[in-house]
Parts: sequence; C-alpha cells; structure tokens
Amino acid sequence: NNWPSRGSINIQNITARYAIGLDPVLTNVSVKIRPGEKVGICGRTGSGKSSLTLTLLRMIDIIEGRIIIDGIDISKISVLTLRRRMSIIPQDPVLFCGTLRFNLDPEEKYGDQDLWNALEIAQLKDCVLEMDEQLDTIVTDGGDNISTGQRQLICLARAFLRKSRILIMDEATASVDFETDATLQAVIATAFSDKTVLTIAHRISTILDSDTVLVLSEGRVVEYGTPQKL
Ligand code: ATP
Ligand code: MG
Repeated sequence: NNWPSRGSINIQNITARYAIGLDPVLTNVSVKIRPGEKVGICGRTGSGKSSLTLTLLRMIDIIEGRIIIDGIDISKISVLTLRRRMSIIPQDPVLFCGTLRFNLDPEEKYGDQDLWNALEIAQLKDCVLEMDEQLDTIVTDGGDNISTGQRQLICLARAFLRKSRILIMDEATASVDFETDATLQAVIATAFSDKTVLTIAHRISTILDSDTVLVLSEGRVVEYGTPQKL
C-alpha cells in the first residue's frame, strides 16, 4: 500500500525515554500536524528537538501516549516500513560508503535521468557535473570530498526520489553556513511544497517560513502557533 498517502501526524500526549531506567526526554507532548504543513521546531540545545523527531521513527521508547499518522497508530507499523516510508535528514548525515548513485538510490529503483533530476532539485547537479566520475563518484564518509551541507542535500535528493509524504529535517547546528541553509529551505519550499515537513530550525529565517512553530523546553511544548503569533 501507499501509507502514508496524506501526511497528517497526530502526536497524542507522548512521554518518551531513551531506555529503561533513564528519565523521560519528552513529557506529555501533543502536536497535531495537517498534511502538507511546514513545522519549525526550535528550543535550546538538549530541549528534545531531535528526540521528538526520533519518536516518529520509533527510535526511542514511547512509554505513554501514541502517534497516529494518516489514521494509523505507528506502534502497529513495522519499524522497517515506518523508516522506509518517511525520510529523515539527520543533523550530521552519514552516507553509505559507495557511489553517489548508490547513496541516492540504494534499492536501484531509478534510472539516471531520475537521479539527475533529483540532483538538480537539490541544487547539486552542477557540482556533480564537475566531478570526474559524476554519479559513480565514490563518497567517503569522512566527508573530505563532500561537506555536511552537501550530505544533507544528497539526503534531500534521496527523499525527493522516494516521494516521501513526510520529511523530517534536523538542521546541522555548527556546520551549516547561511548559503546552504538558504538552499535547503528553497528546495523544501519548492520540491516539497505539498509534503509534510518538520524542520528543526536554528535560524529565525527558517522559522518565519514555517506554517507553525513548535518551541520545546526541557522536553515539553512551551509554545505552539504561527510564527506571527510568537
Ligand atoms: P541540540 O539542539 O543540541 O541538537 P536537541 O534539542 O535535539 O538538542 P536532544 O538530542 O533531543 O536535544 O536531547 C534531549 C535530551 O535527551 C538531552 O537531555 C540528551 O542528553 C538526551 N539524549 C539525547 N540522545 C540520547 C541518547 N542516545 N541516549 C540517552 N539520552 C539521550
Ligand atoms: Mg538535536
């Protein structure tokens, strides 16, 4: 099937922790996100932003509450399916050791034309055209040939190829320069305009573009509304 086909996310009063015996990192968090909504998530370091996005992929333990995506409780969905159907761009993406082609399309489902199209969307086409081996360029995870920002853009291209309805993006904190940040935002605004996008944002400019802003503090929601209201 094609779940999630709309991209609505209903987080109902969740409390979550990393492991048994550890304190919860999220407490009574409720958020209702409609299909296609762009949500900016902010808050100080350690406030639970990354943890909140990890709950959507069942990467941390929900001890109370539930998350409904397009009408289905995600605890009923296999972890594998869940992680295949949603795309996450982590703070510091790790690429597979292999070609750029493999990193874009690990399941070898798409043709070169699709891959180039995705690279163009992610504003990486020119940069890849300049590489001798182009799509067959080996990306090494040390990142000596690819910056963190570019790695995030590669993940974005992959998410575009997979046509994920839900995209989660954890902006890099230290490494992202203003230009890459602007590029990422521009790609999301155009190529992902009809998709649900959760962006952990570090800049006011990113937040201003969102439909809704969620502010976390010590694992709790302290503000939730339109950027104008906050
Ligand atoms: P930053 O802006 O620095 O990325 P954040 O808002 O994303 O911060 P989280 O990474 O969600 O914050 O961390 C929330 C809390 O969870 C912190 O107290 C942190 O120490 C804890 N935490 C994060 N990752 C783990 C982990 N793998 N195991 C146990 N605790 C963790
Ligand atoms: Mg984080």
